[in-house]
Amino acid sequence: MSPQPKNLGELRQSQWSEERCANRGVRQELRENLLHKMEKGETLFPGVHGYDDTVIPQIINAILSRHHFILLGLRGQAKSRIIRGLMAFMDPQVPYIEGCEIHDNPYRPLCRPCRERLASEGDATPIGWLSRDHRYVEKLATPDVTIADMIGDVDPIKAARGGRNLSDELTIHYGLLPRANRGIFAINELPDLAGKIQVGLFNIMQEGDVQIKGYPVRLALDVLLVFTANPEDYTARGKIITPLKDRIGSEIRTHYPATLAEGMSITAQESWTNRDARRRVEVPDYIREIVEEVAFQAREDKRVDRRSGVSQRLPISALENVLSSAEQRTVRSRDSAMVARVSDVYSAIPAMTGKFELEYEGEMRGAENIARELIRAAVGKTFTRYFANMNFQPVVQWFEMGGELKIAANAPSSELLSQLKKIQGLFDHIETLGVRPKDDAAIQTSAAEFILEGLWAHKRISRSEERGYYGETRKTPERDPREPAGRLPRRQFN
Ligand SMILES: [Zn+2]
Repeated sequence: MSPQPKNLGELRQSQWSEERCANRGVRQELRENLLHKMEKGETLFPGVHGYDDTVIPQIINAILSRHHFILLGLRGQAKSRIIRGLMAFMDPQVPYIEGCEIHDNPYRPLCRPCRERLASEGDATPIGWLSRDHRYVEKLATPDVTIADMIGDVDPIKAARGGRNLSDELTIHYGLLPRANRGIFAINELPDLAGKIQVGLFNIMQEGDVQIKGYPVRLALDVLLVFTANPEDYTARGKIITPLKDRIGSEIRTHYPATLAEGMSITAQESWTNRDARRRVEVPDYIREIVEEVAFQAREDKRVDRRSGVSQRLPISALENVLSSAEQRTVRSRDSAMVARVSDVYSAIPAMTGKFELEYEGEMRGAENIARELIRAAVGKTFTRYFANMNFQPVVQWFEMGGELKIAANAPSSELLSQLKKIQGLFDHIETLGVRPKDDAAIQTSAAEFILEGLWAHKRISRSEERGYYGETRKTPERDPREPAGRLPRRQFN
């Protein structure tokens, strides 16, 4: 590639000729580059999973149509990742009039200083270059955002002193939107923007002019506007003014992962699991499935607020905490290997409770209790997936016969394994989990604990803080009903 032109004269002779660039707006640029990437078969949105047949085709259509668009979705649905991903469809570099605050197109400058400069300097006008990340502006909408922040402000005193017309752009202090000229301007949570700011945006999109402090200002900006909103705010409460809504070409709904596998691949990608080469932490598949299933359960739970949703950040943060809990336990017990267990999922509750909002019924129950119940349900469902048709009656019987097992928090796996081995039938189906008898004790104990937790989730055995796992109360007819169940002879472990 030839060196980048440094002035307008050189620019005219280069691949960035007037013919090619004068009227090529940012939306046309995105369209062309997107088509080019599709022709080459490139991955369009790297790192975005589960949207191949739903969201991504709609975004492609919006870009090909040169639409401004809005993503409607709940929190943690990769909206920000998608919007930032649009940067990849921009040219690596574009020319602008050097020094211009609004990155004027050298062939079609909007601002007065650039027009004056072009008239006096002609082909010697210096050209600067903008990279993609300088052409992307993101703003979280809040009710206190002003026209001055968003569009700009005029200084009437300065204008009067300069003897200039107040509508002259020279007196404008540009806001965020003009500074995004020739780029992408993303506004998150659009309904939170005050009505009059939305009117300003609409005017810019519609007419290219806007009123600032009552003075008309002409600003025919070249920008792709992308918005996000919660669907509830957008439709039910009607907090987006109708004319603006009308000017948004496409509205695209995002969603949570449709399958556990999709959710797990997002969680695996986003969570910090490669920590320390010296201490490898192993997270068995069933543990990853349980963590993901907690999010799926929460999204279905009536006690969890649907409008606010359950972010994908729940399984991501929870998986990180599961690993940390396994690390902590293993270091304390000086164990042979770090293998995550179901008990580590319970230890990850602090990474879950802030990730969902509760309905009244849930509030009464408390976030921590809800999280425990979600984990238990997730364990039950995962257990069924692995062991649907397998017989664990011998294990249940062992507990019904009075067996008890309390798993001490920091007991080494080898010690625990020898206790678990005494439970008849517990290891009979362990190969279903991909575990073999010669595997490390930490791997075997994790698998055995999962089975016990699964039986507890299905209410086939009991578990309490004090006693650990024990048998369901047996309805033995010969027993005196006045005698407490705890008096039955029990084999003691731990
Ligand atoms: Zn300019």
